Amino acid sequence: RISKEKFDEVSNLTVAVRIRPMNSRELLHVGSADVVGVRDKEIIIKSHPVGSSNVSIDHVFQYDQIFWSCEENHSFYSTQEEVFLTLGKPLLNSAFKGYNGCLFAYGQTGSGKSYSMMGRNMCEVEDIDCPTFSGITPRFCRELFEQISKLDKGCLCTVEVSYFEIYNEKIHDLLSNANNSTKTPLKVREHPECGPYVVGLNVEVVKTYEELRNCLLIGNRNRATAATTMNEKSSRSHSIFSIELCLSDEKNRENASRKSKISLVDLAGSERLGNSCNNDVKIREGVSINKSLLTLGKVISALADQKKNQFVPYRESVLTWLLRESLGGNSLTTMLATITPANTHLDETLATLRYACQAR
Ligand code: ADP
Repeated sequence: RISKEKFDEVSNLTVAVRIRPMNSRELLHVGSADVVGVRDKEIIIKSHPVGSSNVSIDHVFQYDQIFWSCEENHSFYSTQEEVFLTLGKPLLNSAFKGYNGCLFAYGQTGSGKSYSMMGRNMCEVEDIDCPTFSGITPRFCRELFEQISKLDKGCLCTVEVSYFEIYNEKIHDLLSNANNSTKTPLKVREHPECGPYVVGLNVEVVKTYEELRNCLLIGNRNRATAATTMNEKSSRSHSIFSIELCLSDEKNRENASRKSKISLVDLAGSERLGNSCNNDVKIREGVSINKSLLTLGKVISALADQKKNQFVPYRESVLTWLLRESLGGNSLTTMLATITPANTHLDETLATLRYACQAR
């Protein structure tokens, strides 16, 4: 159990959990049951099905935020908009103050990472803009231009966007036109002042929400997907959508220039090899996915424990190396762990909940 004191100590880090509803496959599965309960800011995993006369509480985990999607009248039920307002909006507000930030969706394939980050579907304008199902990223983009339109007249503002994925520790530009098979992976270099960057990555300057949305759509359509036994269009790569905001006050150019970068990250499925691995390629994928996720966990927990002056192992994975400037320091870091309530995935759910707890 994480103590309340420890929560308050590290206010730059927010760990949230979202529970998706049972899907039809889980409901039809013989002996399937909902094993996840919510109480205050705690998740309770029951060894016996909810409603059983012999309920025993096995595991209790505490988080900053819990979003429930199972029963609409439940007090923890959260819409896509509420999830954005709670997790995405604070990142946006702090970006306007010049702070960097990162939001990660972590969880097994099929647990709701893409649904939370992008929405129910992600490749058409209607999906991206759907008032009900649109996810954190498109809402963030809309709200960004909403807030830019309200800035003082003398304030100059530029927005730059990049979108790439990391697959097997290699970087692929999602905004490039070349198709996946002809793409050569891009390299990371270290700039003496600006820190790590991707050589040759497309960085688009966007002036309107529509232009930004277009980048999102191009990237989403380019996202590499691979079939697994669990979910036919499971993503085996981490996708990173980054927005750089530069604000400067014309009247006071010297002093009032602020730069910030927010990265919205849909991580690869966290499931362990056994569940979905059926050939050599998958094993290689699995190893590098686990390596990045493991390093990310280590980095976040080292940052949360800064009093101990711990070494932060950014360089151990491409993901954490590239996000170094947006993790730690004054940056806001948010981890959204997604889980399914079904007992058939209990092992993975527990692994996700433990990972999210350790991040603190
Ligand atoms: P992941 O990205 O983790 O592989 P998805 O986001 O693709 O998982 O979600 C798997 C399925 O569950 C999709 O059909 C999605 O629409 C549905 N789903 C996920 N989260 C929710 C939720 N909170 N409410 C309703 N449906 C959801």
